Amino acid sequence: MFKSIKQMLNNECPHCHKGRVFEKSNNLFSIQFPKMQVSCDHCHSKYQKEPGFFIGAMYVSYGLTVAEALCTYFLTRPFFEKALDLRVIPIIALVIVLLTFFNIRMSKMIWIYMFKNYSR
Ligand SMILES: [Zn+2]
Repeated sequence: MFKSIKQMLNNECPHCHKGRVFEKSNNLFSIQFPKMQVSCDHCHSKYQKEPGFFIGAMYVSYGLTVAEALCTYFLTRPFFEKALDLRVIPIIALVIVLLTFFNIRMSKMIWIYMFKNYSR
């Protein structure tokens, strides 16, 4: 599991672990829309298995965003007196906006790794 997370963060192809899924390597706060390659340049396996394959990655992205929002809430919680101080909302929104492109990239990577052929 931790090996797969490391491979996802390293932008590795799920099949051969030598090719790249995205053209540029991962950056947590990148402000560029991540461009995905059609197939692996090493083993030539296609990343998009069927039309609309990455629509499911939206649900993964939603889960990542909720997890980041909760983490931000619990990390900032000691700095506020009340349990739900409304000043935490802009902080959470800022973190979510800053991590947008990271979420797009990671949700697609998680989606690809969820549906890779583990029997190979
Ligand atoms: Zn490959």
